[in-house]
Formats: sequence, structure tokens, C-alpha cells
Amino acid sequence: MTHLLLDLPPMSAAHFASIEDRVARLLGTRQDVVITQGEALLPLEGAIRATAGPGTTALNIITGPYGQTFGDWLRDCGATVIDLTVPFHTAVTAGQVRDAFAEHPEIGFVSLVHAEAATGNTNPVAEIGEVARAHGALFYLDAVASIGAEPVLPDTWGVDLCVIGAQKAMGGPAGVSAVSVSERAWARMAANPRAPRRSYLSLLDWKERWIDGGRTALPHAPAQLEMLALEACVERIEAVGLDTVMSRHASAAAAARAGALALGGGLEPYVRAAAEAAPVATTLRAPGGTAASELVARALAADPAAPLAAGGGALAGEMIRVNHYGPGSTPGTVRACLTALGTAMSGADLTVNLPAALEAADKAWR
Ligand SMILES: *Cc1c(COP(=O)(O)O)cnc(C)c1O
Repeated sequence: MTHLLLDLPPMSAAHFASIEDRVARLLGTRQDVVITQGEALLPLEGAIRATAGPGTTALNIITGPYGQTFGDWLRDCGATVIDLTVPFHTAVTAGQVRDAFAEHPEIGFVSLVHAEAATGNTNPVAEIGEVARAHGALFYLDAVASIGAEPVLPDTWGVDLCVIGAQKAMGGPAGVSAVSVSERAWARMAANPRAPRRSYLSLLDWKERWIDGGRTALPHAPAQLEMLALEACVERIEAVGLDTVMSRHASAAAAARAGALALGGGLEPYVRAAAEAAPVATTLRAPGGTAASELVARALAADPAAPLAAGGGALAGEMIRVNHYGPGSTPGTVRACLTALGTAMSGADLTVNLPAALEAADKAWR
């Protein structure tokens, strides 16, 4: 008996390369795009270890938990790290980045998370890229939570290392990811004696064994099912149109925000300025006196399918995440989340107005 998931013909190098090209088109980039055989943490870590070392002074911008992780990797590489931490309910500004360069002109590397699904904020990448470029710093960007939800333009913004994954707004698989690499970034890696080589983390291996050889022979067995899923996911985005996919996410964020405010009961958007709220997911502040994790547990008891989660780690007490991304970027999902939250809040003796919340959400859907 043959099996759809098991008995597939081998994936050819040409097929693999064509999927890379499609991802490059999605990013609008002329840089090399390397598809990495693992979850996005693989290229995120690989790109830092390849380009940072004891001679690097890195400006690490922290707007959520991923920025904290990048700082740990950078320090582990021997880099001197200047952390620029902003409160998680805001975005960083280009002015803050400019000030950091004024104070530390030796900065040669900037790491930034575009949008943070974990905190719900989104950062002004274009303006920060301009500052980084003006100072000749290498610019590393985690666009895992922004790709598909809002524009990601590595070439226009001067991003040297742009990491994406398909599992959020693209509505695709989590087991493969990609990074676009500029010529400057390749040169930095080649000059770094500590850049991983002959390692699962190595981007240089892929350059030498795959790209430089004209992408004719795959260095490893491809993660075939994930590659096919990635191809299907990009095909679907192309068919609907990337702009349509992004506008669905923008509408979902606007609807979730408006709905939460109209629900009342003390529920508030976590990210204070709407312009700094990420289209990928909406974070909410649990009403005073309640624990976000308990409200989420109640909401999930009412509707186990609602894509709700409490904030991670220390944020579990105060933050509720509405993960309206990928297949969840629909009016129905936003309504379901508001309904489940309204039920949970009523159950916790809070006064809410669910009809007003649903009406506000529908109205805000653009
Ligand atoms: C989701 C996400 C990732 C991927 O990591 P997971 O822990 O597997 O979800 C990386 N960076 C950011 C900013 C993300 O939101």
C-alpha cells in the first residue's frame, strides 16, 4: 500500500532551488536566499554565530523575548553587546537607535525583531535600517512574525540577514525556514574564523556546497514534506496575492483591538499606540485583579479552538495573546476570540458588552 505522506519521489535539486526562488520573490530580494532545514531558530542562531565574534560590537534591540535570546547568542560568540531595551508595550524608535550610535560609534552589528508575536509590537525597520546603513553596520532582522502580515523588504531597507519562517502569517509549515544573505554578510562570515563550518548551524556550508556549485546537488537530504508544504503555502499566497494576505492581518488586528476596547470590563490593548501594534497578533492587558493565564484557561474551556494564549514567562500574569494569523486572520476567528474572552470575563464577575465588542470588531474590519 502506498502512502501519500511516505512514498514520494525524491525531491530534485532543481525543485528545491525553485522553491528558494519563490521565497526570494516573496521577499522581493535579489540577495541569496538559503532555505534552512529546521525551525526559524536555526537560521536565527546560525546567522548570529556566522557574523558576530570577539571583534564585534553589537547593538541588540530588545522589544520582547526574542531580542533577549539574540543578546545571549551574541555574548556567547564573544561580541560586546549593547542592549537597547524598550518597554514591551511600545516599539523602538529610530531616534533611540541614532542615540545609541552617537554614544557607541564602534557599533558594527544591529539585531532587531521586526514584529514580536510574543509581545504584539512592530518596529520601524525602514528607519532603523537607514541608521544602520549610515554607520556601515551589518543589519540582522527577525521577520518571522511579520512576513505575510506586513511588508518585509530586505533590499529596500538594507537588511543584510533577514530571517523568515512560514508558520505564522504565511500559514505554512514550521519545520523549514529561510534567510536572505547580502554580499556584505557573506564577506563577514568568510572573514570570521569562528563562523560555524561543517555544522548544522553553518550558512557557509550551504554557500560553498550549494550556492557556489550552482545549486545542482543538495548537500543533505531535503526535508521533503516541509519543502512541499512551503511550496504549497507560497503558491497559495501568490494565488490570493500577498497584499490581500497582509490586509487580512491588518484588519484582524484592527478588529481585535476595537473589539477588546468595546468589550469593556477593564480589558485593554497591551501595545498602547495602534501604530506600534503588530498585524500578526494582538496582545491585551488582563483587567486589574485578574490573572491573564486564568482568563485564557476559562476562555479556552468555552472555545478550545480559539487561538488564544497567555503571555510567556513573566507575562503570563498580565498578557493575553490573540493569535489571529495565517488561517486565523478572519473575522470569524476574531469574533470567536472576543466571544470566548467575554464568556471568561463574565465568569470572573466582570461586566462586559459582547454585542458591542462584536459590532466594533466587524466595523473595524477593513
Ligand atoms: C514565532 C517567532 C519565531 C519562531 O519561534 P517559535 O518559538 O518556534 O515560535 C521567531 N521569532 C519571532 C519574532 C517569532 O514571533
